[in-house]
Amino acid sequence: MKVIAGNWKMNLTLNEALNLADSIKTSNKNEIIIFPPSIYALKIKELLKDKNIKVGIQNVFYEEFGAFTGEISVPMVKSCNLDYILVGHSERRKFFYETDDVINKKIKKALSSNLNVILCVGETLSERESKKHFEVVKRQVLRAVEGIDNFKNLKIAYEPVWAIGTGINAKPEDANEMHHFIKEIINLYVLYGGSVNENNAYSLLSQNYIDGLLIGNSSLKKASFNKIIDIAELF
Ligand code: PEP
Repeated sequence: MKVIAGNWKMNLTLNEALNLADSIKTSNKNEIIIFPPSIYALKIKELLKDKNIKVGIQNVFYEEFGAFTGEISVPMVKSCNLDYILVGHSERRKFFYETDDVINKKIKKALSSNLNVILCVGETLSERESKKHFEVVKRQVLRAVEGIDNFKNLKIAYEPVWAIGTGINAKPEDANEMHHFIKEIINLYVLYGGSVNENNAYSLLSQNYIDGLLIGNSSLKKASFNKIIDIAELF
């Protein structure tokens, strides 16, 4: 089974989001997940109730309830019957100063509540250029799962920061090498993310350690996202 996930980030109006969600193809063999802006998630979940498409949100807080203005908690996500959360996206690390420690707390809370999690890891360009990419990704993975022993609901997305939204995807063999490395640390599903589109999806999915794709820009275009879903059917 391949996993094809779309991260819509902070894009689309409500109507645009509903139209896009409604147009997404389903699969009998692969898992399709979308991460709309959280304010739309419940409505989209309702719209897709008879379709085999999972709906998640892009961030969650580790406390359950209380005076944490602007945050959404794991029990709230569960009470809306949402399927997934994304944790540790590089944009959260960069713009919202999320540390490995905060990411670890979020994952602990989500997994202990049986919520499915996709943890994002990946090195910056300077870290790759200075050949620290394996060391950085290893640290991100190990710190994220510290103190956790049940990984049943955890997946990882390897997203090199220099490939996100730049139009420059990692070479499939380089991504594969990193996925293999991650699986030797912890043997989970590993998705690749970073400038995936309908033209590079096949060669990325052909790699034996690439279990799926996490897609930003191309998940906002229904034709592209559906084409990638079609491509994943070939595996
Ligand atoms: C992402 O943000 O998770 C992502 C991979 O974005 P893009 O596909 O636009 O590079």
